[in-house]
Amino acid sequence: MIVADRKSLEEILSMIKDYKNIMVLGCKGCVTVCNVGGEKEVSILASALRIARQKEGREINIDTKVIERQCDNEYVAQLKETVGNYEAVVSMACGVGPQFLSEAYREQKFYPAVNTTFFGGAVTHGIWEERCAGCGTCIIHDFDGLCPVARCAKSLLHGPCGGSSKGKCEISKETICIWDSIVSKKMEQGRLNDLLKVRAVKDWRTARDGGPRRSIREELTQ
Ligand code: SF4
Ligand code: SF4
Repeated sequence: MIVADRKSLEEILSMIKDYKNIMVLGCKGCVTVCNVGGEKEVSILASALRIARQKEGREINIDTKVIERQCDNEYVAQLKETVGNYEAVVSMACGVGPQFLSEAYREQKFYPAVNTTFFGGAVTHGIWEERCAGCGTCIIHDFDGLCPVARCAKSLLHGPCGGSSKGKCEISKETICIWDSIVSKKMEQGRLNDLLKVRAVKDWRTARDGGPRRSIREELTQ
């Protein structure tokens, strides 16, 4: 899923400092799963903004709403009757959501309440880790299901850099060296020689380096 973190209250307050009538809009997709922008978080942010404005002695009206997915025009269209009732909308979806909103409602102003961070998952309650960089050509079958593109700090594809120590990456003691994990797993399986294979150069055109990407499924476009 897409993982995100909420922006600080100060940053959000600064973005909406000129408005008295806003909507805080959540999303039931990834940001609900990672506890950043679902029903509960929308309600908490709205309360925090009201209290902060009260302390400043300034009025604010905040309505809240949570739609199924902000990255889907079908659900974005449900805001057609109400989105114009506000001076601005604060989106608690990942960075995709406010862009779909902005494209659908050109006259409205949208502000992101979260910082979108990575594709990953929860390794334990309250801790999420990155697993995929969306490179567009998955090659993890060559590395026993572990991704050096997303998880090696240097995205090395032909072996470790030599900087790892006790299984940790040289960038920090908290970060595992994914190459240590790849090599260990290959050794456990008696397949270390797999890594001697000369790999073709990775085609990065399918990654973000090739510009914004599109995915077309012809059978669904009919
Ligand atoms: S190889 Fe690319 S698509 Fe596969 S997990 Fe890594 S970043 Fe994601
Ligand atoms: S220490 Fe390991 S994970 Fe860190 S940059 Fe080097 S090879 Fe990559």
